[in-house]
Amino acid sequence: MALDDAFSKLLDADLYARQAQTFPVLTDEQVALAKPYGTVESLSKGTVLFERGDRNGDFFIVLEGNIEIFAYGPDGLYVFVVHDKHQFSGDVNLLNDRRLLVGGRMGEDGQVLRMNPAQFHRFMSAEPEISEMIVQAFILRRMGLVSLKQGSITLIGCRQCAQSLRIERFLRRNGYPIDIIDYATSERDQPFIKELHIEEDKLPVVVIHQKRQLIYNPSNHELAESLGMIEVLEPGHVYDVAVVGGGPAGLSAAVYAASEGLDVVLLEYDAPGGQAGSSSRIENYLGFPTGISGQELADRAQVQAHKFGAKIALPFLIEKINCDRTPFELINEDETQILAKTVVVASGARYRKLPFEHHFDNAGIYYAATAMENSLCKNEEIIVVGGGNSAGQAAIYLSAQAYHVHMLVRGDGLAASMSEYLIDRINASPKITLYTQTEITALDGGYHLENITWHNRKTGETETRPIRHVFLMIGASPNTGWLKDCVDLDERGFVRTGAQLVDNTEWQLERPPMMLETSMPGIFVAGDVRSGSIKRVASAVGEGAMAISHVHQYLATLQPNHDPVLAVL
Ligand SMILES: Cc1cc2nc3c(=O)[nH]c(=O)nc-3n(C[C@H](O)[C@H](O)[C@H](O)COP(=O)(O)OP(=O)(O)OC[C@H]3O[C@@H](n4cnc5c(N)ncnc54)[C@H](O)[C@@H]3O)c2cc1C
Repeated sequence: MALDDAFSKLLDADLYARQAQTFPVLTDEQVALAKPYGTVESLSKGTVLFERGDRNGDFFIVLEGNIEIFAYGPDGLYVFVVHDKHQFSGDVNLLNDRRLLVGGRMGEDGQVLRMNPAQFHRFMSAEPEISEMIVQAFILRRMGLVSLKQGSITLIGCRQCAQSLRIERFLRRNGYPIDIIDYATSERDQPFIKELHIEEDKLPVVVIHQKRQLIYNPSNHELAESLGMIEVLEPGHVYDVAVVGGGPAGLSAAVYAASEGLDVVLLEYDAPGGQAGSSSRIENYLGFPTGISGQELADRAQVQAHKFGAKIALPFLIEKINCDRTPFELINEDETQILAKTVVVASGARYRKLPFEHHFDNAGIYYAATAMENSLCKNEEIIVVGGGNSAGQAAIYLSAQAYHVHMLVRGDGLAASMSEYLIDRINASPKITLYTQTEITALDGGYHLENITWHNRKTGETETRPIRHVFLMIGASPNTGWLKDCVDLDERGFVRTGAQLVDNTEWQLERPPMMLETSMPGIFVAGDVRSGSIKRVASAVGEGAMAISHVHQYLATLQPNHDPVLAVL
């Protein structure tokens, strides 16, 4: 793609207004402040400074000449941005050790200031004003890569099929640029697709352009591994704290732990954000009067955690914890072992499903209402099931695009379970119809959902309609299976903490458990997974921070062999 085209696309994407923040020019004073942290190098045109796929790339400030930033697409290598004098290279992957999405080379003979990762981290900690500008630019650059599909992979599949949607959702929620081609349409006639000799019966396929590599229907883990999205964990390393779950509670714990000097790893099975990441707009989180999408909040929190030095390992499903040994041992799905002196359980909750078996998950049945699902519903009749706030938000959000939203609730109305402001908006909308005492009883279709049958208990009527999209917002159960036999759970499977443990005979210490401490000293809980929690983003974030203050207190009692001193704190 020509450079001019790339810039005009930037303008199209309405990013031009933030061009100065995306590609800032450092002042002479700022460059002088940066110089002691790196080394000045004179380089000739064409010298490659970093390549797509590198881990731990260096950071560069242009002193003379320029740096061309390039990516790989269907037609090979293309340059899409040029950094001139006193501009700098990099995006959010310089804050972690995930593989870079783009390459950089000298566009002319020139001079650069180079910082290796250790020098860059020292510079970022020591110069907060410049660091703020760099982090802001990195976030905007990643947004640009995603929206302009630069440095992207291509997913060839079918737009409404379960496996294609799974891959798309995983990459989008992890902020990875992706271009999508629907093989069932004329999009498949592009010359580069013909050259790939695709095996149609194995679709979907992910194409990594740099190596012309095809990966057919990869699992999320396989894909993350091939794309270098998984951060490197040193075997045998003992962390101060391992946080399980990357929702608001876990991200908050990681940010506070890292910013307070703890050696922290966050282990997340899917993508940062948890349930909040699937919310199209959170309107009641303090400081965001016009609302913020859960995904944006999570992306920002992830960058913040990385900036302070937290490790974020994903996709990483913790299947088991051994808590009869210290340090605690967490085991993931492929038997990798993570050792930590303390653990913060922030594994939240999982959406409830329909009470009967079906094969329509991601092929007509959805558990989130984000921009991605919204785009599938344009001018379609859809169903939202549930009477809570998340169902209300989804119905209102989706009604903007959908032809009509049928809202099904089991109870007599919404008043007992939904905030007043949402009820008012639902009542006022001509595009939403509420059906009380109504439940889905059957689903029907081939590969994709085609028909829905619902039953109204009040009238006794059963109705079947040709509806292809159903959003289930019917609550959640705690993700505590991996904690079995380690900590005390309540009758619904949520983790008991603090004062709830007064009668617990297994509590081993003389001191009482701290407020967010479980029945196992050194294991703490934050967010929705805690028994009696509030189920809000703000409370999850607050508890994440509080759990880390408990971790500090607990670590102060540890002897060198990690055994807790049996003393009152
Ligand atoms: C659609 C929707 C809209 C919402 N809107 C609002 C709103 O407007 N305002 C508001 O305040 N709240 C809202 N909420 C509620 C809010 O999102 C939750 O209270 C909050 O996300 C809880 O955060 P958490 O970190 O405790 O858990 P979660 O968000 O559930 O995150 C838990 C994380 O742990 C991971 N995990 C689970 N088990 C494991 C394991 N074994 N190994 C590794 N990782 C694991 C999961 O993948 C997940 O990412 C909404 C929820 C939904 C679903």
